[in-house]
Amino acid sequence: MIHAKFLARLCAVLSIMIVGALAFGIVAVIGSSAHASQISGGKSTPRYAQFHGNFSDVALATSNLKHWSSSFTSEGKTWKYSMVGTNPTNGSATTTIPVTIVPLLLTFSNGKSFDGTPQVSSTTSSPLFQNAQFISGKTQYGDAIQRAEFWNSVSTKSPNYHVLVGSPTIAKTVTLSIPSVDGATVVDPSSGKTIGIININWFDPQIQKLLTSLNFTPKMLPIFLSHDIYLSQGAPTLSNCCIGGYHNAVTDTAGLQTYIWTTEADAGVQGGFGEDVSALSHEMLEWFNDPFTNNVVPNWISPIAPQYGCNKFLEVGDPLVGVVFTVNGFSSDHLQDVAFFSWFARKSASISIHGLYTYLGTFKGLYNFIEHAHSPLERANADTFIVAVNSPSFARSSIEAGCEAIHLRTQFCDVFCIGSTCQQEWDSGCLRVMFFEYSFDSIEEW
Ligand SMILES: [Zn+2]
Repeated sequence: MIHAKFLARLCAVLSIMIVGALAFGIVAVIGSSAHASQISGGKSTPRYAQFHGNFSDVALATSNLKHWSSSFTSEGKTWKYSMVGTNPTNGSATTTIPVTIVPLLLTFSNGKSFDGTPQVSSTTSSPLFQNAQFISGKTQYGDAIQRAEFWNSVSTKSPNYHVLVGSPTIAKTVTLSIPSVDGATVVDPSSGKTIGIININWFDPQIQKLLTSLNFTPKMLPIFLSHDIYLSQGAPTLSNCCIGGYHNAVTDTAGLQTYIWTTEADAGVQGGFGEDVSALSHEMLEWFNDPFTNNVVPNWISPIAPQYGCNKFLEVGDPLVGVVFTVNGFSSDHLQDVAFFSWFARKSASISIHGLYTYLGTFKGLYNFIEHAHSPLERANADTFIVAVNSPSFARSSIEAGCEAIHLRTQFCDVFCIGSTCQQEWDSGCLRVMFFEYSFDSIEEW
């Protein structure tokens, strides 16, 4: 009896959530990939790789990359973070980070090659490097986001706060020959074009060698640029694909060096994932907000990007993979929406522009599962929490880890996987996961 009511309640809540998810699409689909995760040809998973460093305080303090550090508190813990630029609460200041773009010419064992060199001009002429109109000012995309993110400070005491990237130096194109075991060319299912897939476990060490041989220094940002290339986690197959970019930090002879690799794909490849500068926009903003890949935050989860599972990193692009937009005058440059610091830090009142939690406002509030659970629970003074999951691919262990965290505040927490009856109704494709909570009291009422 209670169980039947419970399912009915689940379905009712679900239908509300689907309406919300569709609204995301209307806001975000200026380009073609509001939800890249569902239009990738059914085999590959669009995502960005995550590297996580654990550098000593000394290494961080002595880094020559212009950065600031601070902390926030949540769940009774202190969470430290570092970002590029200066602390926006300390007043107006302009930081400009020198950038070098390294085009990559990647040659596969079957003779096919993919050259990033022709992508350089469209990259440097995009809003990543040129001024465009954003809600936080006419400036570069990265600066616009950082200003919007800390708008409460920027709009009051730091009106001339900026974090810019310099006019890029273009390095000589670097040619890499990929061993047959680590690279393959395949026909992309969604566009019919031939793309290259490379095992990231072979690829990143090659990039790290270039950091040294090209004499890069920690104060600047090297960007390695490819065309129609994706990385795989393991053997270069579509099912292990598709990583469109990553940022990383490593200690080499020059110090603590940060860098980015990105693809720039032709329109329609992988359903638009990694199209033009969208992957680079994702990585640049993550680099601004977590340059040393070590900013840990309270667990979050995103219904838009469930491929990241139960996640604890301040990677501003990951919760919104595939949600892109364009700005006036740059209609062919797709920029990714990103989650603001306020979302990760669980600020009940956002310190960002217009009280937003993402640049586009895709997340209407603190939609992540622990916070989503807490507020209504605390209002209802409930002592029970249930997590409902609607994706067979979702790691139960991740959900249980989140449930465990919730359990610290409640007397009961369990994971409830949805049965096949509700599955079809639930699985709209763009909403794979949902969570809801109830108390024993409300069940009795139904
Ligand atoms: Zn990312």
